Amino acid sequence: MQTNVANQTSNITVEDDRTGLSIETLKRAFADNLFYIQGKLAILANFTDYYMALSYTTRDRLLQRWLQTLKVYHEQDIKTVYYLSAEFLMGRHLGNSLINLDLYESIEQAVRESGLDLTEVLEQEPDPGLGNGGLGRLAACFLDSLATLEIPAMGYGIRYEFGIFNQSIQHGWQVEIPDKWLRCGNPWEVVRYESTVQVKFGGHTEIYNDDRGRPHTRWIPSFTVEGIPHDTPVPGYQTNTVNTLRLWKAEAGEDFNFQAFNSGDYDGAVATKIKSETISKVLYPNDNTPQGRQLRLEQQFFFVSCSLQDIIRRHLNRYGRLDNLADHAAVQLNDTHPAISIAEMMRLLVDEHGLFWDEAWRITQNTFAYTNHTLMPEALERWGVPLFESLLPRHLEIIYEINHRFMQDVQTWFPDDDELLSRLSIIEEGGGKKVRMANLATIGSHAVNGVAALHTELLKQDVLKDFYKLWPEKFNNKTNGVTPRRWVLLANPALSGLITEKIGDTWLKHLDELRKIEAFVDDHDFRDRWRQIKQANKQKLADYIRTHNGVEVDVNSIFDIQVKRIHEYKRQHLDLLHIIGLYLRIKQNPSIDITPRTFVFGGKAAPGYFMAKLIIKAINAVADVVNRDPDVHGRIKVVFLANFSASLGQLIYPAADLSEQISTAGKEASGTGNMKFTMNGALTIGTLDGANIEIREEVGDDNFFLFGLTASEVEEMKSKGYNPRDYYESNEELRNVLDRLAMGYFSPGEKDLFKPLVDSLLHHDDYMLLADYQAYSDCQAKVSEAYQDVEKWTTMSILNVARSGKFSSDRTIKEYCDEIWNVKPVKVELQPYDPAKATINVGS
Ligand SMILES: *Cc1c(COP(=O)(O)O)cnc(C)c1O
Repeated sequence: MQTNVANQTSNITVEDDRTGLSIETLKRAFADNLFYIQGKLAILANFTDYYMALSYTTRDRLLQRWLQTLKVYHEQDIKTVYYLSAEFLMGRHLGNSLINLDLYESIEQAVRESGLDLTEVLEQEPDPGLGNGGLGRLAACFLDSLATLEIPAMGYGIRYEFGIFNQSIQHGWQVEIPDKWLRCGNPWEVVRYESTVQVKFGGHTEIYNDDRGRPHTRWIPSFTVEGIPHDTPVPGYQTNTVNTLRLWKAEAGEDFNFQAFNSGDYDGAVATKIKSETISKVLYPNDNTPQGRQLRLEQQFFFVSCSLQDIIRRHLNRYGRLDNLADHAAVQLNDTHPAISIAEMMRLLVDEHGLFWDEAWRITQNTFAYTNHTLMPEALERWGVPLFESLLPRHLEIIYEINHRFMQDVQTWFPDDDELLSRLSIIEEGGGKKVRMANLATIGSHAVNGVAALHTELLKQDVLKDFYKLWPEKFNNKTNGVTPRRWVLLANPALSGLITEKIGDTWLKHLDELRKIEAFVDDHDFRDRWRQIKQANKQKLADYIRTHNGVEVDVNSIFDIQVKRIHEYKRQHLDLLHIIGLYLRIKQNPSIDITPRTFVFGGKAAPGYFMAKLIIKAINAVADVVNRDPDVHGRIKVVFLANFSASLGQLIYPAADLSEQISTAGKEASGTGNMKFTMNGALTIGTLDGANIEIREEVGDDNFFLFGLTASEVEEMKSKGYNPRDYYESNEELRNVLDRLAMGYFSPGEKDLFKPLVDSLLHHDDYMLLADYQAYSDCQAKVSEAYQDVEKWTTMSILNVARSGKFSSDRTIKEYCDEIWNVKPVKVELQPYDPAKATINVGS
């Protein structure tokens, strides 16, 4: 086992329990932590105890690097990236920390020698699900890459007490269960009470004159909430850098209804406490569909205000002035969720720190950059002015002032274009005034980016085209990526081992080096092992399916997988229509020659999204019929895996033969699941949407199953008046498929159950399933044929992995660093921890 960490133990003869890396020391530390931290005798300990003890053992080894990193950042003149995101879908910490610290193999051995299996211990960790899907997972991959690239960075977000709900499937329907991820304690966080901040809400504003007679505005809030920082270390891969994810927990203010308490009004006092703590209580489970709830705006402002106050406090401690803030801080807004930052930064600079408006505006624009994540108009955040006014009265004034100045600029650039003014305005008029957060973010930032080439082009031509006309130089593309450490090394150790054996292990930091495995594409032994590894990964998933779904699947069938949030634009129901089509062909001719397939679905639906929940029910209803029908002879199986999450993803992506990326062209901003599948040797069936386009460009047309309308064809068809019924009438198979669903063939006893789904397709079909059905079905036939040719499929699979290097989030982050943030790496040298020295310095 090779260790890349600095040699901090070389001249220490007896290893310290909290830092030593030898197997003996790790075993002793594990046993000690079981006894002293979990308070358990080894004979009475359960797997949670083992997990906790092992986490503390690992955390001790992280802490030296973490504190050393903080020290270096404190001492040097650096620029820091602040990534503001309402969601961080981190995935389990323990396995990833072991990987990034290069401790995995030693710990595995230490745990084995203690009589346990490491993978079983890793399974005990609750998955910290503080995000909905792709957007939150992107934030997590970015933090991994920032630390790996040794960039000073901090993630800021909310410490939700309840993350994304756990999904269970009952009678085919999704049932939501609260996610009590903190129940057993969280060994990965350190609470920093000393850095608590105050956040104001409500009330009113007033004007006052300062001692020089200058007018200022003061915000008199109606209540104040405290933000308590909870810090989690974020280690880079094979480096000493450990950055920080700082999540804020809301608590009642220090003087929380002291009077009520004193006068005996305990109910009133408790009500205040509950109201405060509600702010960080639960993650909103909507993905790509905002709900204009007051609590959601409170959450956004809460974490933004905490984070910006924290950034300013640290900057003032170091430099004692604010004019140079943008030289030392780059703040990235992950979608519009933190866009209130623009107004809050202006308020802090002008109202609280006495800067002039123009100076404050220059600093704000130079500090912020905004990432757009969606093209769907209904997903753009807009807040009603009355809500805004009652919750954030001062911010509404500031937004009006920003808008007024901006409108004046536009009028001088483009005189007399009222239409243009109303489209650019931060305030949407008519039907109740609204604050458009995307406009605020765009105006207040120096850079605006999309997350894949097509998405950025569509932003420029469509959603933000008027802003593009004003400031073409602000717009840029940053195609998303994923970290190969979690998604290949941790998720697929066997494939990683084979690759490392052939080309060394530097590919994990320089993913383009995967190209070198193309040299082995004709190597018989290599190809054989490639297939064996995929087969073993499929077997693991098959075992999971047997345990969790009670369904037996054939590991020689095509594992055809669609896992992602359930959304009409992602078109899980197109996948389902194809399955029903295949099934009807079998029913018509039971001896038909079919390439066996296992269709696997997974994903959560927003609890209030009726159609998405009906799609889940439909998948399970079809599964019930197909999986039991003797005519099928097990040639096709349909499985819905409950509770898709980052940890389940680590099992699923490596087991896929076919990756379903079939969104309506122009709707999926980028996708990142598509990248994880590709890196693990699955082939993609997909539309020309999001990053699919770039994946196809990289792997080659011959190694990608393309089908469907393009984004411009979708637009053109819609503008000419799309009539889905035409496809129903002219396509017999499609008609049969829809009729069976509508007739209740898959819902005995509830014949109208799926009628809303079918009606929506026949009468609206906003996402053009019927227009794409035949092309999809034909393309699936090509997939089946290609799979029959094992040698051809193997070559395609190898080439997909070899050419997936572009999709490392390291590449994405390098582009952000160079083109948006203007930040440089900072090396952290590890000093051996010396307890004696630490003791002497206390109190000095
Ligand atoms: C990667 C990932 C996603 C995003 O998947 P898409 O296919 O890009 O929508 C969502 N959820 C989890 C848990 C993920 O790991």
